Amino acid sequence: MKLDKKDISVLLEMQEMTLEVEGLQKRLEETAQELGLAKGRKAIHREEAVLQKREEALARAKRDLKGVTQDVHSLQQQIESEERKREEFGASDFRRLQQFEEEMVAIRAKKEEVEKSQGDKTIQVENLEKSVRELHLKHSETREKIEEREERFRAKSKKTGEKVESLRAKVKELTLGLSDNKGERFLDMATRAGGVAIAAVERVDLPHEDNLQEGNFCTACQAIVPVSVLEALDGGETAICTHCRRVLIIV
Ligand SMILES: [Zn+2]
Repeated sequence: MKLDKKDISVLLEMQEMTLEVEGLQKRLEETAQELGLAKGRKAIHREEAVLQKREEALARAKRDLKGVTQDVHSLQQQIESEERKREEFGASDFRRLQQFEEEMVAIRAKKEEVEKSQGDKTIQVENLEKSVRELHLKHSETREKIEEREERFRAKSKKTGEKVESLRAKVKELTLGLSDNKGERFLDMATRAGGVAIAAVERVDLPHEDNLQEGNFCTACQAIVPVSVLEALDGGETAICTHCRRVLIIV
């Protein structure tokens, strides 16, 4: 690829812009990490799962409570109806009366047992209701916090996107201004070379003049640039780094 001074200056401008695009995208990714967006989403899902389980436990406890409450009610009805029957007995029927009293003791004991269970279930339902309320509150706080962060990220992402779009448009415009597809070829090269297709030669002054070769490096790959390449560059020719194949320039 034959490049003149004007080509190189345009390509350097393109390189700066493509590197800026890369930098902007990297910063956006870093922002997402700093804001803990992925972690935040996970926290929301975790809390939702806990909340759902707790709500299911509450629904079960409420069903159980309803069941024992019905049991208490029907035992109470049974007691009342037995007591009405008792009034029909004659006081003289001692055996029957005794049997009746024994049955009543058993029913009352059963009712007491069910009432105790009803008390336990009531406490359980109250505790679960309290816990569900607290979890809802905590969850809405988490959501609010994460959504606020996501909103901030969306705003930044939009701004970055607009900047990237405008830089890409400028790169495209510069590409069209270059002959022989130089722009496209440069962009291909840059993609393969981590964004840097054009590298400056770093001249280092060494005490021994005859050691000049060791004093010139490609700034992209740090390889030594031979004197012959330097001379070609000084003579206005295009040169490529023998190590990394980037276009070399003298600045
Ligand atoms: Zn190199």
